[in-house]
Amino acid sequence: MSDGTASFGKRGRKIVHIKCRRCGSVSFHRRKGYCASCGFGRSKRLRRYNWLKKKKDRY
Ligand SMILES: [Zn+2]
Repeated sequence: MSDGTASFGKRGRKIVHIKCRRCGSVSFHRRKGYCASCGFGRSKRLRRYNWLKKKKDRY
């Protein structure tokens, strides 16, 4: 089996990520207790990586 369409059947069984209180995206991990998008619950500062800045900082 490949990583393509066939494996998407495993999606949507449980809710893992809920809406984050800080950034508003559905990336807050319920069990781990932090946001995968902004790092809320894990660090005080926003989660930021160098490899994220693709769309901004382009001009
Ligand atoms: Zn967040």
